[in-house]
Amino acid sequence: MERRKFFEKCLTLLAEVGILSTVTGRASAKTTDYDPSKHHYGMGIQIDKCIGCGRCMEACKEENNVPKDPFFFRTWVERYVIKKDGDVLVQNIDPSAERTNAAVNEKEILRSFFVPKLCNQCENPPCVQVCPVGATFKTEDGVILVDEKRCIGCRYCIQACPYGARYLHPETETADKCTFCYHRITKGLLPACVEVCPTQARIFGDTKSGASPLGRFKRMNKLHVLKPFLNTEPKVTYSGLDGEVR
Ligand code: SF4
Ligand code: SF4
Repeated sequence: MERRKFFEKCLTLLAEVGILSTVTGRASAKTTDYDPSKHHYGMGIQIDKCIGCGRCMEACKEENNVPKDPFFFRTWVERYVIKKDGDVLVQNIDPSAERTNAAVNEKEILRSFFVPKLCNQCENPPCVQVCPVGATFKTEDGVILVDEKRCIGCRYCIQACPYGARYLHPETETADKCTFCYHRITKGLLPACVEVCPTQARIFGDTKSGASPLGRFKRMNKLHVLKPFLNTEPKVTYSGLDGEVR
């Protein structure tokens, strides 16, 4: 009798746990009570709140096993410098180095601001369309993921992404990019970048949840997306985005 109870318990445990370990995000188990059809995720970014500290970049690397070299990234922050003579400079923020604006004469600057960027989790994603083996796919809750076991490292998706949001992971030799920390959000947690942002410049939410902070952000702000003319329908929306931002 004891033996039978033991096997019944094992079966229950197996039924409760689903494994997602082959999906980039390098995560882990998720419980079967998560129903993707009840969620649809997005992120809002408030340009006027970003101070360019780069904590989001560091937290993302730590959480998602992104190599330390600045060449590899799932999220990054650009500093736009609008000069008085009309020139526009775009600098990448590197939190591990001295501020990258040292070369710009402050007297020549009309204004400057920071723009955090990441995969836009496009509703109409070019990266999914070009993948020859179906390794890049859209989940029911609207997140674009990469199946590491299927990916053959051909880089087609990296070239197809108009936002430069993908890179080839040097260890796995598979395509990698932001997943909204899928292994966290399916457990009800925030993406790592959102959790650490000291100014709440990044707002994450579920558009199927009536009371989400993202819903409030969308109601209260005039919204923009990057490269709207491409019709990729990004799920990352910005408030206060300047016309100079590409
Ligand atoms: Fe901007 Fe927040 Fe990232 Fe700092 S952590 S760079 S304030 S988005
Ligand atoms: Fe794909 Fe690039 Fe869109 Fe992300 S931003 S879904 S990687 S096309």
